[in-house]
Amino acid sequence: MANDHPLEESVTAPAGGTAAAPSASGPITAAPAALGANVMVLLDDEVNAGLLRDSLQGMGYRNVNATEDPALARQSILRDRPDLLLVDATLPTESGIDMLAWIKSDSALKDTPVIVLSSSMSITQKLSALELGASDYLFKPVDARELALRMRNALAVSLRSAGERQADALTGLDNRQRFSTVLDWAITYSRRMGVVGAVLQIGVDRFAQVNEALGQAAGDRLLQEFARRLMECVRETDMVSGLEGAANKAERGLSLSRIGGDEFTVLLPVVQRAEETALVAMRIRASMIRPFNISGNDLIVTCCIGIAVFPNDGTTRDVILGNAGIAMSHAKQQGRDRHEFYGREMNNRSLARLALERDLRLGIERNEFSLVYQPKVGVKAGRLMGAESLLRWHHPERGLISPVEFIPVAEEMDLISPLGDWVLRTACHQISQWHSQGIAAPRISVNVSARQLQEPGFEKKVIRTLEEMQIKRDSIVLELTESALMKDPDHTVFILKALREAGIGISIDDFGTGYSSLAYLRRFPLDELKIDRSFLMESTEDSAAIATAIIALGHSLRLKVVAEGVEHEHQLEFLRARNCDEYQGFLYSKPVPAKAFEMLMRSGAQSRK
Ligand code: C2E
Ligand code: CA
Ligand code: CA
Repeated sequence: MANDHPLEESVTAPAGGTAAAPSASGPITAAPAALGANVMVLLDDEVNAGLLRDSLQGMGYRNVNATEDPALARQSILRDRPDLLLVDATLPTESGIDMLAWIKSDSALKDTPVIVLSSSMSITQKLSALELGASDYLFKPVDARELALRMRNALAVSLRSAGERQADALTGLDNRQRFSTVLDWAITYSRRMGVVGAVLQIGVDRFAQVNEALGQAAGDRLLQEFARRLMECVRETDMVSGLEGAANKAERGLSLSRIGGDEFTVLLPVVQRAEETALVAMRIRASMIRPFNISGNDLIVTCCIGIAVFPNDGTTRDVILGNAGIAMSHAKQQGRDRHEFYGREMNNRSLARLALERDLRLGIERNEFSLVYQPKVGVKAGRLMGAESLLRWHHPERGLISPVEFIPVAEEMDLISPLGDWVLRTACHQISQWHSQGIAAPRISVNVSARQLQEPGFEKKVIRTLEEMQIKRDSIVLELTESALMKDPDHTVFILKALREAGIGISIDDFGTGYSSLAYLRRFPLDELKIDRSFLMESTEDSAAIATAIIALGHSLRLKVVAEGVEHEHQLEFLRARNCDEYQGFLYSKPVPAKAFEMLMRSGAQSRK
């Protein structure tokens, strides 16, 4: 069936040949607009149809639909109104000539250019196809360069008239009809590729007032200017939102339309994360900051944006667009210059989360972090035995933000590594400063997140930091949670051994809240076990029994046992009765800045050494 291959393999001069014209020997490129054209391929079998689709995509055509089923083709021609049809003269159930005749007899379709491909050399058939209105008639196998040229010519004519049909006369953006077609394509694409897309519906705030005050001509000018700014934003989006890494060009099929009076839509066919759409919305809103100069007036114009993502917020064009519209109305009800997601919860989550992510990055750059130290005290003699360093974030607007809130975000964003490095260096630097001031600081504990432990070479980095700061290796203890240790226990054993051999202390944090295998507990080289504060806070018999058991377990493993969150004297008595070694908690001291901890060390509280 080699002869049935839709394209000739070779792109050199066709066989039988008179030399090809020199101008045709280079790569043939279509105009950019043509590459966005909706091309429909209907061939005699599935493989050939697929092959031709692939070659066309290889030429840069983004929207190619291919099928071997004439019935399906009819449906999609009616629905999608392709800009060009490539049809086989002979099809399984009807002839391509019938299909051509059908298209040319339909008033809505008759302008669609049709190129007929045929493996029969019948000149009679060729003439009848041209007679019916075919734009071209090519014999198979078709030379790829020839096809490219024929398509370009056919499309040049078709897109010109389609452009008139599908563009919005006022702004030159796509109109609602074109938007619908592209959205349908994006929905299908998202289903097929399992990707998420989004529609942003944008409404100009208080447009009616502008129209009334300055007249319709000024209103029209404003819409044109507004459209131009949107265009700039969307062009930027294409470059910054990660779409440039999209697997194929179709994924970049961003579209911008005016779908009615003062309402516009942006289609993002592929978004990696829903938050990305909020970024686009924010960029659009920000681009409106500059006033619009309309008929000598500087107008401040804002807009509200509703966002629907698919498939989550809908799987059909009408539902998705409807929900984006609902979100937009919702935004407008709240005031001006806003954007809203269709799902409210997601809206709140995503906004807060986005802000936190952005601020966290900035916070690291701007040095908004500090460490506080919470004393660890001997249960029996009440002596100062050490301190745990705890991270604090001083947000310029929100004030102090709890590590409970930002550590998980930092972990997810891969910011925990730089942040963790900073914590370790700062704690070590502090220790070396104390030493140089002649203060024999007790061991300082540093919290380490699971992510850091998984970083290759983590143990080397810790040891290197201690060396750089010129402090003794037994000056620090690393606190790791049970769940962090259990993520990859075999690897963990290896890392912990290296750290331990170097003299660094290892503590297991929040013990009792996670899951740990006792077999591994014995294999991990540990120094200390910290009972989670929940067991001391709840004064139930069960909690007391668990705390008692943990202390006994720790001691049987020859570990020092530390109780966290001790707030009351009776808790301390409880610990004393059970021989717990150390405690931490508000009863003795809250976490305090380095200076305050220094005073604690200097005043009565004796140090370890
Ligand atoms: P954690 O390691 O279990 O730290 C103990 C937490 O209990 C600290 O909260 C501390 O302020 C608090 N606490 C101490 N005594 C009492 C008490 O008597 N009563 C009560 N109710 N709470 C007490 P903080 O500082 O908010 O830290 C929370 C968590 O954030 C820490 O839990 C730790 O998981 C994480 N974290 C803090 N700093 C760092 C850090 O530098 N790196 C990493 N990876 N995580 C950190
Ligand atoms: Ca801790
Ligand atoms: Ca803890």
